[in-house]
Amino acid sequence: DKVRPNCIGNADGDLENQVGRGKLVRLYQQWPSKNMFCCCGCCMTGGTDECYCPNMCVWCFILVPSCTYFGLVAPKLISNGIYLLPGATLAIFLIATGLLLATCCTDPGIIPCREVILATGTADQLKVALGYDVLGPEGSDSASLPPQLRKQGYRFCNTCCIVRPPRSSHCSDCDNCVLRFDHHCPFVNNCVGQRNYHYFFGFITCVMVLATMVMPALALHLFNPDQDKAMKNAAKIDKSMSLLFYAMCAVGELAADIAELKDMLQRAQRPAVREELQRVLTKLEAEQLKAKSSEAAPAATSPKVAPATAQAAAPAVDVRPVGPWTEITTFALDLGGYNKPDVSIDLRLKGVEELPAESLTCDFKEDSFDLKIMGLDGKNHRFVRTNLEKDIVPAESSFRVKKNHVIINLRKVKGEYGYDSWVDLCAKGKRKPAASKSENPQDSIMSMMKDLYDEGDDNMKKIIGEAMYKA
Ligand SMILES: [Zn+2]
Ligand SMILES: [Zn+2]
Repeated sequence: DKVRPNCIGNADGDLENQVGRGKLVRLYQQWPSKNMFCCCGCCMTGGTDECYCPNMCVWCFILVPSCTYFGLVAPKLISNGIYLLPGATLAIFLIATGLLLATCCTDPGIIPCREVILATGTADQLKVALGYDVLGPEGSDSASLPPQLRKQGYRFCNTCCIVRPPRSSHCSDCDNCVLRFDHHCPFVNNCVGQRNYHYFFGFITCVMVLATMVMPALALHLFNPDQDKAMKNAAKIDKSMSLLFYAMCAVGELAADIAELKDMLQRAQRPAVREELQRVLTKLEAEQLKAKSSEAAPAATSPKVAPATAQAAAPAVDVRPVGPWTEITTFALDLGGYNKPDVSIDLRLKGVEELPAESLTCDFKEDSFDLKIMGLDGKNHRFVRTNLEKDIVPAESSFRVKKNHVIINLRKVKGEYGYDSWVDLCAKGKRKPAASKSENPQDSIMSMMKDLYDEGDDNMKKIIGEAMYKA
């Protein structure tokens, strides 16, 4: 920002004061405060008459264990081929110290006192930046502050002789008013306010992560007699960290691939193309399921048995080994008329009735279903259809096993005049949303005409275009 009125030590040209024989004197030299400045006013820290002990302690508590770690433990880890653990620790250490330095040495959001504002003529700039007159009405004091300002949280600082905005406060340690004042922190030897709060918050987070990485490693190195075992454990942690890292990248890539495939599937018109896309999609979804279940596996304490009912649990929590899938391609389909409540699909699978009940699961959703048959003839079979032509009622849909057959019953949605009539199992293009009852009939005719227009040839477009224009 061009105007930094709060920073009295800033080296901005318009905030510097020309005094004496052409010698440049900075504001913090002309009006010494309790703050300490260095690097031509670029850096500043809290009160000079303060004890620096807490701040020094913080630096020692971070630097001593970290340097010991990097001097003793890290070389040993690296010589054992463990790179990710010390690398990550170094990165966190650098970020934590950087953020601590930034919290200690930056302006927390100091509002200059009246004397400085008047001498530098920055009242107007401050008014623009803060949105109110910092000097207040002529000759104002805490008693004469207008009640409406007082109600909004504005206060008059008797020390700085300025009107300070809501949530700001005067820090007695630094002898300044600070914008959005949080507290004066002796451990960073600075106020924590509007301008350095994010550094402070980041520092606290990083230093906790750093402690959990450095302290156990140091303790194991210094006090554990069995160094080989400790090194093996470190290698395990390093391996799982790198695996987690790669798995996160891979799962992200897979999810992006699946999203793009689904998008392509919605746009594809040709049956052969759709079938091919569906095949690849099923394969990728199986891979994603496998990746997710292998990620979830170490976290699971007891093997879970997926229920074989229609309300099957979400596939992500199924920790049993799954895939690769053999897709079931042949099936008999009975769409049923307007008076039949179900669409039924008959899959012929030899010997399916001999499988235990939990080997078969089917996940019904409003516009899709996913049947999985585990361990039939040593293979895992799957029959999945997304983008069903009409919505189904998942809670009332089910499947049953007969000798050499699995029958899936998809419950149709019942409308005012009977059940939906289906012409195919899956919708060809993007499915149209179901028309709501309150919809204006004229609107649905118009939308039907619009669809005809979109799909029709040039002549059709011309006729419909004219009709729509007249309507
Ligand atoms: Zn003040
Ligand atoms: Zn302070």
